Amino acid sequence: MITPSNSSPCPCGSKQNFGLCCEPYLREGKVAADPTTLMRSRYSAFCLGDVAYLKQTWHPETCPDDLGADEPSNWVSLEIIDSDVEGDEGEVEFRACLIFDNKLETLHETSYFDLIDGRWFYHSGEFENEGEKPKPIAKNAPCPCGSGKVFSQCHFQR
Ligand SMILES: [Zn+2]
Ligand SMILES: [Zn+2]
Repeated sequence: MITPSNSSPCPCGSKQNFGLCCEPYLREGKVAADPTTLMRSRYSAFCLGDVAYLKQTWHPETCPDDLGADEPSNWVSLEIIDSDVEGDEGEVEFRACLIFDNKLETLHETSYFDLIDGRWFYHSGEFENEGEKPKPIAKNAPCPCGSGKVFSQCHFQR
């Protein structure tokens, strides 16, 4: 598990420091006040391979038993597109990208959240772009992670 310091940029891409953004949720038991905040912190947990936090924030009815360290961790960007809360139910539409096999895969999903005893839980999600093919990334293109480096000098794997 990668452990960013609290002054490194938060994996969720908020441009805030980890210590001021998702770390308090992942490490200090802070409770996410809304589905979007939970979504961001869970994305950070996916980036860091923090399975314990993912389990803790997953609805007990839908949490997979075999959730493990083999979850893909090469996530490079998160974009929240839309969110809505009605009573004890919420939804968040987002686009998250990961690099696998030197190709860019985009997950465009609407996630559903339930509020139980004052805590939001991820319940399930619906893919909005099922069947979309991973896109090859040119070696000299800017890396999709937004580092400003070219792909061959950043997330490219030989
Ligand atoms: Zn964050
Ligand atoms: Zn990169």
